[in-house]
Amino acid sequence: MEIEGLSILKTLVLMDTSTGKSTLPLAEYVADVLASKYTVKLLGEGEKNLVAYNDAAKKQVQKGQHYFAFCGHMDTVPADQSQWKISPFELHLENDKYFGLGTSDMKGPISCMISALLNNDPCLPAGLILTYDEEGAMSGANYLVENCKETLQGIQLIIGEPTSFRLGYMHKGFSHYVFSVTGKGGHSSLPEQGLNAVYAAADFTQAIAHLSKIFSTQSNNGSTPTLNVGKISGGDVVNRVAEKAIVEFEARYTADKPPQELEDLLEGKKVLYESQGYTCSLALQSEQPAAYTDKDSIFIRLLSYLSKQQPTLLDFATDASIFNGRGEIPCAILGPGNINVCHQPNEYITRADLLTAEKLYADILESQIEGLSLTR
Ligand SMILES: [Zn+2]
Repeated sequence: MEIEGLSILKTLVLMDTSTGKSTLPLAEYVADVLASKYTVKLLGEGEKNLVAYNDAAKKQVQKGQHYFAFCGHMDTVPADQSQWKISPFELHLENDKYFGLGTSDMKGPISCMISALLNNDPCLPAGLILTYDEEGAMSGANYLVENCKETLQGIQLIIGEPTSFRLGYMHKGFSHYVFSVTGKGGHSSLPEQGLNAVYAAADFTQAIAHLSKIFSTQSNNGSTPTLNVGKISGGDVVNRVAEKAIVEFEARYTADKPPQELEDLLEGKKVLYESQGYTCSLALQSEQPAAYTDKDSIFIRLLSYLSKQQPTLLDFATDASIFNGRGEIPCAILGPGNINVCHQPNEYITRADLLTAEKLYADILESQIEGLSLTR
């Protein structure tokens, strides 16, 4: 069997849309491909998201009803070319696997969405959203949620991230914190006259590690909150008492806000260190909300039926953080490709996955004829 979106995938892989590069040429190319059958808008400041929908979708919204839109991100992480056995920007077939940067995350899934949209019966409502900067601050999705509410009306999003066709209905959000502590410097031969900031930072790191262990035994909505210290720095030279130290850590959780035990620990440690003479501050560097769509909703049940998959919690964050967490748009995450080959050299997607995804995405659109109605 032929993969219908193969020439599209080839073109997408040729475009370097890795972090720091523009995704606009990709958006413009897809806009051209869809232009004869879809209304296409390029929306954003500088970089542009692509939003496409057909007349049937527009009518559906006018009737106050929902329609399906596929969603993917156009950017990729950067490639370390020295680690690749072939050029990351050329689609290369070997043993039924297509190699190339973004083949799984998410140019392969996007090519399957486009081929389903091109083959779609124009009577059936359908749409597409392609975002920029998902691998960064998700500013593309943020722009749409903040500025284009009307355009997003009635949408139920199928985000084609590489889940190996697992059907995700929820994933964690995260909070990235920076904890800074300042003590008092001095000569290393007289440590008792100083106040070593590295000791406070080490104690703090241990407290986070301890709480992380406690969390690993807990469950919220079937999911376990996690904590990770990702970066620690402090002091400058060995013969001086360290005056400053910084600990960066993150919490991931499915609830609306960080776990209370974490808030308590942060407050308690601040009070403790200040009583010892340190000054300290805690900054929330960035945060993304969790995504959650009711797994008993018609939307998720229909996708579960069509994909023959039980809805499941996913480990990794997607644009659903923004579209669902901030924009309250129903989101499912369902796509070809394996997350384990993403963000690393020699990324690939299998031929079988591309074929399955083209069929599944077409089935999702066609299910609207069969009366598996979205409003039921
Ligand atoms: Zn991705």
